[in-house]
Amino acid sequence: MRMKELATINEVWADDDEYEYLNEHYLVKANIKYLGIPIQPGRLTKADCNVLLEKIVSKIRGIGARKLSYAGRLVLINSVLNTLHNYWASIFLIPKGVVKRIEGICETFSVWGSIITGAPLVAWHNVCCSKEEGGLGIKDAGVWNIASVGKLVNWIYEKADRVKDLLVGGYQDNCWAGSVGAYTVSAGYHWLQDTHPPVLWYQDVWDPWVVPKHAFVGWLIHRATLNTRSKLFKLGLSVTANCVLCEIKEEIHAHLFWECVYSSQVIAGLEHWLQLKIITPPGSMSKLQRRICRVVKMAAWYTLWMQRNTARIELTLCRPENLVHQIQHMVHGRIIGKLKDYVMPRDCTWLSKINIRCQFCT
Ligand SMILES: [Zn+2]
Repeated sequence: MRMKELATINEVWADDDEYEYLNEHYLVKANIKYLGIPIQPGRLTKADCNVLLEKIVSKIRGIGARKLSYAGRLVLINSVLNTLHNYWASIFLIPKGVVKRIEGICETFSVWGSIITGAPLVAWHNVCCSKEEGGLGIKDAGVWNIASVGKLVNWIYEKADRVKDLLVGGYQDNCWAGSVGAYTVSAGYHWLQDTHPPVLWYQDVWDPWVVPKHAFVGWLIHRATLNTRSKLFKLGLSVTANCVLCEIKEEIHAHLFWECVYSSQVIAGLEHWLQLKIITPPGSMSKLQRRICRVVKMAAWYTLWMQRNTARIELTLCRPENLVHQIQHMVHGRIIGKLKDYVMPRDCTWLSKINIRCQFCT
């Protein structure tokens, strides 16, 4: 075959060309796509495939195609059939009538018929046999379509088997197969997800009143993942493991936020202001008091951590009472902003004592 013929064939059925064509004439018309594949409410109909037939006809009857040698036509036909599996035929079963029509188009184009009668010299199913089997090795469009869809089925079968193995216990434990309490994605997710015991500090950190950036640092503190000097020292990234704030004890989370002299002074100042214990709150506190204690504790930890970072770089430490004022100012606006519901008289009295005036206070 001449190089020019080969070039024509390759150009005719380049993947991009086919994709653009389908996009323009079919996929856009179908309008609904998922992962680039048209979503069909039912099976593909002959009408749906008209555009594919038109495409095949236009390419086969296109400029230059008629001038191809028999060998060239053989390559072109196989190229046409090969492209079938690229898009639709790898997902949908093409109607038998359409498959017959495609084969008819290819057969007519091949002109392997009698010059006198026009009837094919060799039956198409024989042409579709491999050359070793006496045919021309042209692909049987119907069989090729089923084989292409089979790849998808195989993928689903393999994945389904794996997923089935993972969920079999869940189905048994929860009776998901029954009509009551049928399987849902959410139920499956929760069953698969490892469960851990709840943490006692969950409400302290994630109370909706707590400022989000304070909550995040609070979460890191409870997870003991901040880069304390103790941790950096062990990694060889700090010359000392001693606390930045007091410079006496090893700077671990428990020391920095619970035991350090400097931190304790700040917390004591805040507890004095609130007239409540914020690190170990008593059970007699009202819901509002408990909530405000959480806001203050998280703000205090956040501010202490920021102060510790500043002190590490600037080698200066502000007085604990200044930090207390800073935290009071920080939480004041937050608490006022959140006080939108009715406040119990007992809480109102307490709020006025700590200099927070809500709209309910008189
Ligand atoms: Zn310390």
